[in-house]
Amino acid sequence: MTKSSSATPEQHRLYKGYKRFRKGRYQEAKELYNQLGDQQDPDIMIIGCADSRADPALIFDTAPGEIFVVRNVAALVPPYETSGGYHGVSAAVEFAVTHLKVKMILVMGHGGCGGVKASLSAANDKPIGQFIAPWVEMASEARDEVLADPNLKNADDRQLALERGVVRQSMTNLMTFPFVKEAVERGDLDIDGAWFAIGPGQLHWLDKVNDDFWLVDPGV
Ligand SMILES: [Zn+2]
Repeated sequence: MTKSSSATPEQHRLYKGYKRFRKGRYQEAKELYNQLGDQQDPDIMIIGCADSRADPALIFDTAPGEIFVVRNVAALVPPYETSGGYHGVSAAVEFAVTHLKVKMILVMGHGGCGGVKASLSAANDKPIGQFIAPWVEMASEARDEVLADPNLKNADDRQLALERGVVRQSMTNLMTFPFVKEAVERGDLDIDGAWFAIGPGQLHWLDKVNDDFWLVDPGV
């Protein structure tokens, strides 16, 4: 029995999308889905922003089972902490590194990031939200660096610099987890950073040697 006749517009939209998925991508990858039914073995973890426009699975055109993804406001990774609390990102990083043994963790920021805007706003004595402001406070070190940079003349420059700064900050914080540091030092794990420009759909990759972002050849 289906119940779609009394669906809200949002439910209806999702049911329709699900039907397209069943007819399209699921049919195409049915065998893969069946194989993956019992276990996953992704080599790549991506930590991205929750923003609706920066979906890693779409941007990297990945198959089911290919990427292990955590998304949150501004793609932030907290530093390693042993205090109690709900460490959702830390739990995902632990699972990815110690159980799935991923070979790469990519932190991906993006243009027009509301979380980054909130971080800059908090520095301006205008904290946003009950939970957003304390969450983005995690990026305060990167933010303070941006605010102290005399070369960044206006709000757009500072926004872009911090969108990339939070990627670096999350990468630095990842290395505070003992199991991450050990895996990197063993040569079993790479940590990378990227930034996605939404309008032009362009991906920029962090060159860790020059500490600069370069444009990945889109091929078209
Ligand atoms: Zn964002």
